[in-house]
Amino acid sequence: MEGQICPYCGKKLEVWEPHPETGWSDYLLVCGNDECEYFHRAREKVAEECKVNFAYRYCLNPKTGKAIPIVTWCGGDLSLLKGRAKKGP
Ligand SMILES: [Zn+2]
Repeated sequence: MEGQICPYCGKKLEVWEPHPETGWSDYLLVCGNDECEYFHRAREKVAEECKVNFAYRYCLNPKTGKAIPIVTWCGGDLSLLKGRAKKGP
């Protein structure tokens, strides 16, 4: 199942092994690209609607073939609300 690419940015998905306490038993494939269109769109939406520095990353469950958005914290240079990150195209 390795070598899958993100449908939004074309980058290779990274294997992400969730912490056992999250309840996920299997590993997931996640797009770790900070320039990913999916990530940028989610970040803008969350920043506008919720005023918080969260975004979603594209994540694929290789067992089911289903995409699950993974919530990610956008601190520091990834923060839109602090005006540090540029809005996407
Ligand atoms: Zn991507």
